[in-house]
Amino acid sequence: MRHHRIAAIGGDGIGQEVIPAGLDVLRALQERCGDFALEVEEFPWGSDFYRETGRMMPEDGLETLKRFDAIYFGAVGDPHLPDDLTLWGLRLNICQNFDQYANIRPTRVLPGLQSPLRGVGPGDIDWVIVRENSEGEYAGHGGRAHRGQDIEVATETSIFTRVGVERIMRTAFRIAASRPRKLLTVVTKSNAQRHGMVFWDEVAAQVAKDFPEVRMEKELVDAMAARFVRKPGSIDTVVATNLHADILSDLAGALTGSLGIAPTANLDPERRFPSMFEPIHGSAFDITGKGVANPVATFWTACMMLDHLGEAAASARLMRGIEAATAGGVLTPDLGGSASTKDVTEAVIAAIRGDNQ
Ligand code: NAD
Ligand code: MN
Repeated sequence: MRHHRIAAIGGDGIGQEVIPAGLDVLRALQERCGDFALEVEEFPWGSDFYRETGRMMPEDGLETLKRFDAIYFGAVGDPHLPDDLTLWGLRLNICQNFDQYANIRPTRVLPGLQSPLRGVGPGDIDWVIVRENSEGEYAGHGGRAHRGQDIEVATETSIFTRVGVERIMRTAFRIAASRPRKLLTVVTKSNAQRHGMVFWDEVAAQVAKDFPEVRMEKELVDAMAARFVRKPGSIDTVVATNLHADILSDLAGALTGSLGIAPTANLDPERRFPSMFEPIHGSAFDITGKGVANPVATFWTACMMLDHLGEAAASARLMRGIEAATAGGVLTPDLGGSASTKDVTEAVIAAIRGDNQ
C-alpha cells in the first residue's frame, strides 16, 4: 500500500464546500482502487481564522505544511477583508515560500458541455497553459514617489531572471513533449517589451535545442487572445509570463464553459516542497451557502494531485468519473443545470464505484 500525506485547506466561501466534496470523492476513489492510502489532515485556515487570531494561518503554518506530500486548497477571499490581505496571507504565502514556480492549467471542453464559441464542443479545445508563477510582472518590485503632485510617478517593474525563465521553459517543453501533438507556443510581447520579453524569446530558443521533438512557435499575447477565439483547434501547449498567462487562462476557462470547472496546479517540479492543487475560481460569496458551487474544478485538480503523487491509474479513474457526471447532464447552475454540489459529488462517486476499467 502506498501512502500519501495531504493537507486540506478549504479556506473561505465555497472553498469550504468544494474541498469537503473533493475529500468525499477521494475517499471513494481510494476504496475503489485499494492500492494507495491518503492520510488527510484538514486545516481551518482563512478569514475566520484571521478574525480569531489576526493571521490567515499560524506563524508556523509553513513548517506544518512541509510535512505533507501535497496541499489541496479551496479559495480565499472575504467580503469584509481586503483581497490583498487574504491572498498574500495564505495562498501567495504558500506559493512563494514553497517556490511553486510552475502554474499548470489544463483546458478542455468536457463531454456534455459546450463552449460559448459557436460549434465548439468536446475535442475541439485541448490545451495546457503553463504560467510562470514566481516572478515577472508580479514580482512586487516598484514604488511611488511625489504622492499627490503633478510629478507623481508609480512604477511596476517586471523581473525576469535566467534561472526563472529557463526553469519555466524547461517545464513547458517537457509538458509539450509528453503530449501527442508536441506543439509549444511561446507567448510574449517582444515587439513592445524589448528587455524582458526579448530575453524570454532568447531563452526559449536555447532550451528548444534540448527538445528537438517539440515544435516551437512564437506568438504575441494580443494575437494569442484572438487566436484562442478564432482558431482554438490550432493550440496545444502554451507558455507565458505571470501576467499574460493569468489573463489568457481566465479567457481559456470561459471558453470551456465555466470558471467552475477550471483546475490548476502550483508545482514545485523539483519537489523540494509540497505542491498545491486548487480550482482557479475564488470564494464566490454570491453563491456561498447555497449548496450550488460547481465542484468539478476541485475534482479535476485532485486528478492533477494524484498524477503528481504517482497515482496515474487513480487519476484516470477519477477523470472518467467526472466525465460520466458531465456527460450524464448532472450539471450545476453555472453550466445551465439544476444539480447541487451534493448531486454532482454523488454522481461522480457512483461512477467511480461502477467503473470497471
Ligand atoms: P470568483 O471566482 O469567486 O467568482 C466569479 C464568478 O464565478 C461568481 O459569479 C461566482 O459565483 C462564479 N463561480 C466561481 N466559482 C464557481 C463555482 N465553483 N461554481 C459556480 N460558480 C462559480 O471570483 P471573484 O468574484 O472575482 O472573487 C471573489 C473572492 O475570491 C475575492 O475575494 C477574490 O479575491 C477571491 N479570489 C480568490 C482566488 C483564490 O483563492 N485562488 C481566486 C480568484 C478570486
Ligand atoms: Mn487570475
